[in-house]
Amino acid sequence: MKFIDTHCHLNIEPLLERTNEILDSAAEQGIDKLVVVGIDIPTSEIAIRLAEDHPQIYATAGIHPNDCSKAPEDWESKIVEMLAHPRVVAVGETGLDYYWDDSPPELQKIFFRDHLDLALATGKPVIIHNRDADQDVMNQVLEHGNSKGVFHCWPAAWDIARPLIEKGYHLSFTGTVTFKKNELVQDVAKRMPLERLMLETDSPFLTPAPHRGKRPNEPKYLPYIADKIAELRGLTQDDIARATTQNAETFFTF
Ligand SMILES: [Zn+2]
Repeated sequence: MKFIDTHCHLNIEPLLERTNEILDSAAEQGIDKLVVVGIDIPTSEIAIRLAEDHPQIYATAGIHPNDCSKAPEDWESKIVEMLAHPRVVAVGETGLDYYWDDSPPELQKIFFRDHLDLALATGKPVIIHNRDADQDVMNQVLEHGNSKGVFHCWPAAWDIARPLIEKGYHLSFTGTVTFKKNELVQDVAKRMPLERLMLETDSPFLTPAPHRGKRPNEPKYLPYIADKIAELRGLTQDDIARATTQNAETFFTF
């Protein structure tokens, strides 16, 4: 069995000092590639350092919507420089987050647009975060010329998902798809085209059932997410592993 964890944060606490141990237990579960996602300048730099030190790890560079107001003046030139690194495979994570109050929505929208511009300019896919901002995220993405990206930790209903998939975007699922009563997200995981679906743990957050609530989450729990999606679609874990690995290989061009 072979999986790719397309979104995890081995670049933040409490995972930061445990890289080797985490990679070993992930490998035991067949996870042989991991994308470590930056949320600000320092964590993007750490992601790159991890990717330089470990052949399984690839990095991304970007400013998370909650971190916009803390970003340095010259953030964009720093991100552009990092995007030129051969092991940086995507722009982000970016997007909109209206759940937390850390950055004003108008500022988040500017950063989001700048990241979409960078994705289009570099040809690298963008990783998008959406929390409680379905309509604004959808509008901004549909208005923009970029069509290569993934909505990480898909949170919304099918009527939001469909136009984004039609535009060319991928959706990726975390442990939230395993949570009881999360029918909204399960419905999307069941209906969407398999060739646009990817898996991620978003470690250290969102530990899947049956370990829900246990912290920290780790990449080794990825197969539980595959199992749930296999069950929803009437497929085997092997079917999901093969399809999602193929999707991630093509999407990120490792
Ligand atoms: Zn993330």
